[in-house]
Amino acid sequence: MTIIQDLGEYKGNHLWIKREDLIPFSFGGNKARKAELFFREIDKGGFDCVVTYGSGSSNHCRVVANECCRRALECYIIAPREASEPSFNSRMMELFGAKITTVPVQEVHDTIEGKLEALRNAGKKPYFIEGGGHGNIGTEAYVQCYWEIKEYEEEQMLHFDYVFFASGTGTTQAGLVCGQLLNEDERQIVGISIARKNPRGRDVAIQSIRDYMGEKAREEAIQAATIFIDDFVSGYGKEDKRVTDTIETVIKSYGIPLDATYTGKAFMGMAEYIVQQKIMGKNILFIHTGGTPLFFDTLKKMN
Ligand SMILES: *Cc1c(COP(=O)(O)O)cnc(C)c1O
Repeated sequence: MTIIQDLGEYKGNHLWIKREDLIPFSFGGNKARKAELFFREIDKGGFDCVVTYGSGSSNHCRVVANECCRRALECYIIAPREASEPSFNSRMMELFGAKITTVPVQEVHDTIEGKLEALRNAGKKPYFIEGGGHGNIGTEAYVQCYWEIKEYEEEQMLHFDYVFFASGTGTTQAGLVCGQLLNEDERQIVGISIARKNPRGRDVAIQSIRDYMGEKAREEAIQAATIFIDDFVSGYGKEDKRVTDTIETVIKSYGIPLDATYTGKAFMGMAEYIVQQKIMGKNILFIHTGGTPLFFDTLKKMN
């Protein structure tokens, strides 16, 4: 359960922020919420090592490596060479003793398969987690987050008209949309893409929603509820002056750290979307999906 903080008036609307970054494990974030559910499976199933993948700046890999470390489980990370620049996250992965294999991006899939097979052949019982904590378990984590939002609305007797957040693999978005569909709630859930363009980005989110909902949702309802905005994509991890300006403003005005890869882009995207769509007098919730260590990578590069 994370807090929702009232940030007051914002561009003619009222803004709140859900602080997923304050989940009390390994700097929190949506990867910490997802990992909690994955590691419940790992603990129950008697697995003795974990295999996952992600870039050197991956919040997911940092959290998984930390969860493994506290349980003394071996953690194998397959990383694409194209995105392996050192960061505070990659330094923590090393600190936690993760065994990182860096390969060209097109070899990631086969390397994972090879690693899993080698571990099984050695008599180990590995658990595989998709990059970013993708899959039904990750989706479930954000259905639970949606319930927390509902609870806050009931307590405070208010209704969020819009929910904004950074969308990557679309799992966070899928969970939130599934929560909305299960409750038949009227609101706009707007994923701001941090890397993928349409139609692929949206299609992946939609597939996750179908996988989770099964027969419980009509296709038209899923299509109508999935808003995936790719107008603010500059590429995963790429520098963008407007994003660093946003990060600077938000830390100065609210004391809340954002980063250049995820939350800074999403916050900037939200601000521009509000103006573009002439949204006025609405209740808006921004979900801070975490990534606090990346704030410091951004800060190092800011002048
Ligand atoms: C991974 C990540 C996202 C994207 O989440 P998805 O569920 O993959 O869409 C957003 N923000 C932060 C900080 C992340 O680490």
